[in-house]
Amino acid sequence: MPASDAALVGSSHPSDAPPAAADGAARTCTTTVGVLALQGDVAEHLRAITAAGARPVPVRRAAELAAVDGLIIPGGESTTIWKLAAIFDLVEPLRERISAGMPVFGSCAGMIMLARRLVERASEQETFGAIDMTVRRNAFGRQADSFESDIEIHGAGGPPFRAVFIRAPWVEEVGPGVEILATEPRTGRIVAVRQGPALATAFHPELTQDNRVHTIFTDMVRELS
Ligand code: GLN
Repeated sequence: MPASDAALVGSSHPSDAPPAAADGAARTCTTTVGVLALQGDVAEHLRAITAAGARPVPVRRAAELAAVDGLIIPGGESTTIWKLAAIFDLVEPLRERISAGMPVFGSCAGMIMLARRLVERASEQETFGAIDMTVRRNAFGRQADSFESDIEIHGAGGPPFRAVFIRAPWVEEVGPGVEILATEPRTGRIVAVRQGPALATAFHPELTQDNRVHTIFTDMVRELS
């Protein structure tokens, strides 16, 4: 797959979400997973949530955030997502739900936004600090250094996962409560972690048809919500 930013700038529309599950629908369909829909590859996450058996909802307003069981912060540009979250008055509601233990998954820019500490932090860029880790932005290089790599993900089962890295961060350091789920084999760098209800990957599982990471997350949402 060409590692293109084009996949990261498309915005989604509320009609991307399927209608609410009908009464009496199976429990697997009633778990609602939001995708922060301010910028980035929102539509791809909505698709992957559906494939993992949960109900996807784009989140742009506090009322939408209040209604989800878990939230995905997509890949894109973390500085832009933060600015838009401030403009949309979502920063405080997000902080409150994340600190209250809402299951949250960040991919790439989303991983950056979940970090407690950043290297190469842009001025005025803040994070939610849900995971006790230091993340280096653009660690694998710029756009031209985007690549794919087969990685083993703890808990995913099956064959290696084809991971797509686009201007990707890596995790430079983790605190004692953080579980390392994957490292990138060529560099040995940490690229997937979990701490309690928070999951993060430096790569973009939503850009492949392999839904195992979204299944791990939707299972977390079902267990914790
Ligand atoms: N480098 C971007 C950032 O700092 C993340 C890139 C991505 O999400 N693909 O936000």
